[in-house]
Amino acid sequence: MNRFGAGAVRPRTAAIIAAGGSGARMGGLKKQFLPLAGLPVVVRSMQPFQDHQSVDDIVLVVPPGDAPLGQSLCSAYGLAKVRGVVAGGGSRFDSVRSGLEAVRVLCPDVVLVHDGVRPLVSAGLIDRVLESATRYGAAVPAVEIYDSVKRVDRDQVQASMPREGMRAIQTPQGFHSAWLYEAYSRPIPAGATDDAALVEACGYGVAVVPGDRDNLKITTAGDLKLAGRLLADPKVAAGIGYDVHRLQEGRPFILGGVKIPSELGLLGHSDADVLVHAVIDALLGAAGLPDIGQQFPDTDPRFLGADSTCLLEQAVQTVAGAGCTVLSVDVTVVCERPRLAPHILGMKARLAPILRIAPGRIGIKATTQEGMGFVGRAEGVCAWCVALVVRD
Ligand code: MG
Repeated sequence: MNRFGAGAVRPRTAAIIAAGGSGARMGGLKKQFLPLAGLPVVVRSMQPFQDHQSVDDIVLVVPPGDAPLGQSLCSAYGLAKVRGVVAGGGSRFDSVRSGLEAVRVLCPDVVLVHDGVRPLVSAGLIDRVLESATRYGAAVPAVEIYDSVKRVDRDQVQASMPREGMRAIQTPQGFHSAWLYEAYSRPIPAGATDDAALVEACGYGVAVVPGDRDNLKITTAGDLKLAGRLLADPKVAAGIGYDVHRLQEGRPFILGGVKIPSELGLLGHSDADVLVHAVIDALLGAAGLPDIGQQFPDTDPRFLGADSTCLLEQAVQTVAGAGCTVLSVDVTVVCERPRLAPHILGMKARLAPILRIAPGRIGIKATTQEGMGFVGRAEGVCAWCVALVVRD
């Protein structure tokens, strides 16, 4: 049973986004307004509350003088739940107090307070805090501390602190609104750094829910960079390649750049390295480039008897020229005979420097066709490849 009674309608919930800080600036802008993966930090900090079905209203607190900027961001990014953009005060507590005044008229049952510089807050974290705050009256997200904790003065350790039972506390923090109003009506206790400390000072219990390590507080340029990496579009593209060559007597059997003893060899305009050809097509495909037949036409005498690893080298260069770096390739060769297993390590060693990746990022598997079809009758060999590249 929650504080609002079994079967009661869900609590009306307001979120205060505390972005009133004007201390640290990076590159001339207050950190809450800096772009992060294309959106201002404060917009990213608000968006999960805008999108959350249990949050009804949002009040944004900005530094004095920045209300017009806050307003324009809210309309530009369609943050329709924002009921007010208010100016903060000198401290975080002054800012939240301004936010609370604006929130009161909305008559929320539960108030969530969230740092405007925590842009990676997830819907799941909001759920956990909201559910626990609804049930117990106050809740904070916490993460374990794995580093050692010491009191330091300048660059000297003063004391080692016990880590046992210690947690790092994040936002959003959730409160039954009456508790928060009461907490903010009293003097701020010395040493308090968050809203929960004020509620604790009133004698109320504060529940703890699991926080989220990704829920960073952007404090330094390094934090912003890290958040950018966490949000980064991986820009990975995949390509697929397929090739087939006939088997014929009197031809060399070259596969993966390795000459393999065999009474039958592969027939083709080049050395007919079917594995390498599949890799080339997969790479070109991942980079969105024209296929092997267009890059190295078999009507071109330059490629007569060509060493396919040289073609691969050129293809890797072409792919790099298109802004793509090879991440990995994985090949399956379908071949009735000869047996390929003893040569696979050699192929990886041969191809790795050409692909500019570690041999561990190359997969080569061989299988037979169980005697069926053209491969089964040893009329030909085919190869499939999937390549991953990362685009600049
Ligand atoms: Mg071919």
